[in-house]
Amino acid sequence: MNTVKQVWVWAEHYRGSVNPAVLGLLGKARELAHEIDGGSVGVVLAGADSKNITDELFNYGADFIYLADDTSVNLSDTESCARLVAELARQYQPEIVLWGATGPGKEIAARTAVRLNTGLTAHCIALDIVEIDGRKQLAASVSGWGGSAVIRITCPKQRPQMVTVKAGIFTSVRPEKRTGKIIHVKITQEPARLETIEVIEATASAGSLEQAEVVVAAGWGMNSLGGIAQAEELANLLGGSVGGTRPAVDAGWISHDRMIGQSGISVAPRLLITLGVSGAAQFASTVTGAKFILAIDKNPDAPIFEMADLGIAGDLQEILPRLITKIRAVKGKSWTDISKE
Ligand SMILES: Cc1cc2nc3c(=O)[nH]c(=O)nc-3n(C[C@H](O)[C@H](O)[C@H](O)COP(=O)(O)OP(=O)(O)OC[C@H]3O[C@@H](n4cnc5c(N)ncnc54)[C@H](O)[C@@H]3O)c2cc1C
Repeated sequence: MNTVKQVWVWAEHYRGSVNPAVLGLLGKARELAHEIDGGSVGVVLAGADSKNITDELFNYGADFIYLADDTSVNLSDTESCARLVAELARQYQPEIVLWGATGPGKEIAARTAVRLNTGLTAHCIALDIVEIDGRKQLAASVSGWGGSAVIRITCPKQRPQMVTVKAGIFTSVRPEKRTGKIIHVKITQEPARLETIEVIEATASAGSLEQAEVVVAAGWGMNSLGGIAQAEELANLLGGSVGGTRPAVDAGWISHDRMIGQSGISVAPRLLITLGVSGAAQFASTVTGAKFILAIDKNPDAPIFEMADLGIAGDLQEILPRLITKIRAVKGKSWTDISKE
């Protein structure tokens, strides 16, 4: 299949704000487009309020925006979004399509890959262009074998080459005042198989984990407290966000898109507090960017203490309520007042 040299990014946005992951992807898309011989960067943007964010997307690196600003486009209807990208890809034939590995991003990417009968490499941690048999190919790296190996995957025959990228991997370039071309497109209407019943806004403790300065990671040890209510309380007090380990997801305490680890997201906050997290390699390898780690676990030999800056070996049932009470008491006070107490 002959393709034009375009690298596309799916522009996820909500309430007029572009998902920060998209801005990071745009910078990477520019690099990849350059490496595939002067290619250009296209963005697929849909939804009623999308017109207001086109300037931002150009400034961060888009050359073209395929804009479906139809009020009928429902961004939580991942099937319609996939139909849109697939139809556009058939028409314009991009070389590469990048998606943030967000909840909707993962779903739309997978649906699009099936429609286009192409490959999709998920949860990538690096992207490069390599030459194989005289043809430039995207080499997508993923973490494997419990974080002890990096596996590079190519999609040599099918096009477009599609990947989802883990959050926090590519930081956005500094925006420049740029303009580009808007191509107005229409989404083909088909009877919807999915219906949005209700949109529930995230609470403060469920804010973006990738952007959070304070992250509270809940592990299986929170089971002794009957769930993560106190982890959420701690995060709210510190203006942070709550994520967790796989067992915390499996227990239904947090959603899958807030799972920290090899199969989830990487975090790099100023402060990471782990509560009953043993520190398995699949978790630990993705929190190394945290500036300070406070770990609380009842097992003094838990591997998490090897990477913690401050460790408390003790029972969460006793420590966590005391920590919350103490933080609540000192909140808003100056260090001088606190040291006098
Ligand atoms: C291919 C693969 C991919 C994976 N991907 C991920 C991933 O992305 N993310 C992820 O998290 N895991 C992942 N895992 C699973 C991972 O190996 C671990 O099983 C998981 O991280 C353990 O989670 P945990 O620390 O919450 O639970 P556990 O390992 O069971 O640890 C619970 C901790 O709580 C402590 N505890 C218990 N009760 C208390 C108490 N009352 N007070 C204080 N401490 C207490 C215990 O001492 C223990 O250290 C993956 C595994 C595989 C094989």
